[in-house]
Amino acid sequence: MPLTYTIDAEFGPARRGHMQLPHAVVETPVFMPVGTAGSVKAVPQDVLESLGAQIILGNTYHLYLRPGHELIRRMRGLHRFISWPRAMLTDSGGFQVFSLNELRKVTADGVEFRSHLDGSSHLFTPERSVEIQIALGADIVMVFDECTEYPADHGRARKSLEITLAWAVRSKAYFDAHKHEVPWAADLPGRTQSLFGIVQGGMYADLRRESAERLVELDLPGYAIGGLSVGEPRHLTREVIESTLPHLPKAKPRYVMGVGYPEEIVEYAGMGVDMMDCVLPTRAARHGLLFTSEGRLNIRNRRFAEDQGPADPECGCMVCRRYTRAYLRHLTAAQEPLSMVLNTIHNLAYYLDLMKAVRDAIAIGTLPSLLARVRAVSREAAGDNTTVL
Ligand SMILES: [Zn+2]
Repeated sequence: MPLTYTIDAEFGPARRGHMQLPHAVVETPVFMPVGTAGSVKAVPQDVLESLGAQIILGNTYHLYLRPGHELIRRMRGLHRFISWPRAMLTDSGGFQVFSLNELRKVTADGVEFRSHLDGSSHLFTPERSVEIQIALGADIVMVFDECTEYPADHGRARKSLEITLAWAVRSKAYFDAHKHEVPWAADLPGRTQSLFGIVQGGMYADLRRESAERLVELDLPGYAIGGLSVGEPRHLTREVIESTLPHLPKAKPRYVMGVGYPEEIVEYAGMGVDMMDCVLPTRAARHGLLFTSEGRLNIRNRRFAEDQGPADPECGCMVCRRYTRAYLRHLTAAQEPLSMVLNTIHNLAYYLDLMKAVRDAIAIGTLPSLLARVRAVSREAAGDNTTVL
């Protein structure tokens, strides 16, 4: 049995719900921290649990290259290997093959690429990507897709869409034939992974609609909107999400890949998105950029040198309860490894608490005021001349 998804409350197009996955229940809308190579960088698993992370991402491309999916299969799957008892999702590797490889070669069969580690040659096909994801054993796995670059003209975006749809059909055929091979099959009898489809189509509403409608014919347990955060202006990201969502089934979870800033994830949840992931809170933290209820702070700024307050006076995380801005600034300026740990823990706490506030606001009907509050501090942050990466 794949996942079951239940809607518990609605506010306009927004929904609060929960997904029953093989390893855990996940409340939605949910933000998923990115754990690229079997680790959410700088944060131990017990801390992720205490922050309320319900589901984390693993990365097929990175784990396939190192330590290798067959090793992880022998360790009885990624959950056991990294000691994470809650839910996990793996991407298909498509995005990394496109973003990390200048020398990739796309054919109808798949993508040839060179390892960014040692230059060795590899081939990802839809079947191979799903085979690796079954060995890793995440609760949710993704079809292999071609992430259309930006900008791409209509003809190029259509060609890319056709490749992605053909690969989705092949991904599903392989998944249906092999899903019983997941390493935890004997531990969780009757449970299977869930394969999600990915809508592509560049920045064109007609292609996004066609991609969604043809993908939905495959009757998958959930659908993602991919090909965003590839360098397009932020208003285009929102327009593509807005024009695609009505073509995805209301009764199934809808996932937007690779977004976004705090004000964006609140807005997209308000539009009816159930799942989001982004490297922003973790990557920004490693550069000393903190998300707070007062807006974004560049903790390196000299004005924090003797600031005795916490990073965020409204945050109850273990970092804000114990350490001052002055100390976080010192650690970051001195490039102490602890600065990455503490900054990342706070940023994840901010994102995870924000999504909890979104779920509560959907249930009690206060989503517009929450969005207004988050937008107001984001404008202040912009005026603060703080840049994010
Ligand atoms: Zn905090």
